[in-house]
Amino acid sequence: METFRFEIVTAEASVFTDDVQEVILWGTEGQMTILPKHASLMTMLAPGDIYIKGKEGEQYLAESGGFLEVRSDKVILLADACERVEDIDEDRAEAAKKRAEETLKASPAHPDAVIAEAALRRSLARLKVVEKRRYKKKAAS
Ligand code: ATP
Repeated sequence: METFRFEIVTAEASVFTDDVQEVILWGTEGQMTILPKHASLMTMLAPGDIYIKGKEGEQYLAESGGFLEVRSDKVILLADACERVEDIDEDRAEAAKKRAEETLKASPAHPDAVIAEAALRRSLARLKVVEKRRYKKKAAS
């Protein structure tokens, strides 16, 4: 099976490096699928879930927006933040979601609403990844 090198890096750490078969993530224009020999590109990413199909099967991560570079030798994601599913604190994400929703409800036209909307997107991405793992575990049992 043909693969390509995929790396996810944040300011804090290298989160993922491996040869993979397929990556699906969220560009600002919508969902993108990266396969081997994808044309070179650079694009911004929206906060969302990342699907990776690789040697160790399928896995999901959450990213909080960033920058994607598809090169001929590898694909690099510079993420503002990125967590593997096992590192996501679900309660924290639920609390962040609630805070953001309350701000949006109380003052939808306030400049804070823009910040709250971004926080809401990040929390929803984390919760979606946790939910996907739960669904996968259920389906496997
Ligand atoms: P919060 O309001 O809970 O801090 P946030 O969306 O503002 O969430 P970020 O600014 O995106 O947080 O990330 C700050 C750091 O905290 C990053 O290292 C990120 O990986 C981590 N982080 C944020 N939320 C979670 C979570 N629910 N579980 C695990 N790590 C998280």
